[in-house]
Amino acid sequence: TEFISANDLASLLDVSVNEIISVCMSLGMFVSINQRLDAEAITIIADEFGYEVEFTKTDEEESEVEEVDSPEDLEPRAPIVTIMGHVDHGKTSLLDYIRSSKVTSGEAGGITQHIGAYDVKTDNGEKIAFLDTPGHEAFTAMRARGAKITDVAIIVIAADDSIMPQTKEAINHAQVAGVPMIFAINKVDKPNANPNKIKEELANMNLLVEEWGGKYQSQEISAKTGQGIDELLEKVLLEAEILELTANPNRNAVGTVVEASLDKGRGYVSTVMVQAGTLKIGDIMLAGQHYGRVKAMFDHTGKKVKEAEPSTPVQVLGLSGAPQAGDILKVYDTEREAREIANSREQINREQSMRTKKHITLDEIGRRL
Ligand code: GDP
Ligand code: MG
Repeated sequence: TEFISANDLASLLDVSVNEIISVCMSLGMFVSINQRLDAEAITIIADEFGYEVEFTKTDEEESEVEEVDSPEDLEPRAPIVTIMGHVDHGKTSLLDYIRSSKVTSGEAGGITQHIGAYDVKTDNGEKIAFLDTPGHEAFTAMRARGAKITDVAIIVIAADDSIMPQTKEAINHAQVAGVPMIFAINKVDKPNANPNKIKEELANMNLLVEEWGGKYQSQEISAKTGQGIDELLEKVLLEAEILELTANPNRNAVGTVVEASLDKGRGYVSTVMVQAGTLKIGDIMLAGQHYGRVKAMFDHTGKKVKEAEPSTPVQVLGLSGAPQAGDILKVYDTEREAREIANSREQINREQSMRTKKHITLDEIGRRL
């Protein structure tokens, strides 16, 4: 396989492309500026400039979240939603309102925990999972690590304010990620709310809402009174329907770590959004450089569960440490497999932190281009 061009390699090594070409010539290789180089050539050239190249797989390649399943194994799954928007426009209020109004009463006495994600059932029984980590910081941090766990983005905009810098950033992030957006125009209960002004500002950004003949769904809501929130969830489901979200529930589970911590009484606790397969008690799992058997699982209400299907967030006990948000969690058939990968990742991490020689990874190359 060829990776990058002589030109791109030059900018990575911070030298001119002419230097690259002349080094190649001195080594008996004739390359042109835009010629793509294979691993061997990259290694030799980089070495000439004092770099050591390490070829790593990106998280994405490694994750196999999108492992190819045959179509007959695929079943519909619930959408996973992230709420983004400017500070104080109502992200937390909206997440809280949805969580408290849609979590079926009776579940563990209604005591909900903040575990970084939750899922709800709408009035007509359809499921939606929410990442309860408002702000695009979490979204971008996870995406930078190769995690793709958002199907639909709700962009909250306060109707008594304007499109603000972080609103624009959130829109940008969703667009770059290719995630469909729904605009939730919030605080319409306020006397000075002016939702039309927001729609106008969106139109000025080339984001025309549906009722004005555009393609973007929007909903006027109040995270305080609950007005419009059922309709907003309906629109999320509509968007999800168009996306035809599916996963194979009958294979080893794959998911993404949303958050993880050390709990004094329970050991390492990780919140995982299962994305494919079904995670079960006793499964051998690996996330980052940590592995172990699933000892116990809890939903966001604190209720014990025995398994978690695609698009379900669960708290998982049993990993040997705390993985990072955005790490892929995968189930393996044998403990030996999981241990070997964990050990080699640990070794790579150790070497990387000890290495003094300048070095680049192909993962990095992929990110910088
Ligand atoms: P975040 O920074 O985006 O998470 O915003 P918050 O959810 O913390 O909300 C910021 C402030 O706006 C808080 O004081 C909320 O009580 C208030 N707020 C949020 N949504 C509404 C709403 O729909 N109506 C009114 N009147 N106030 C709201
Ligand atoms: Mg908040």
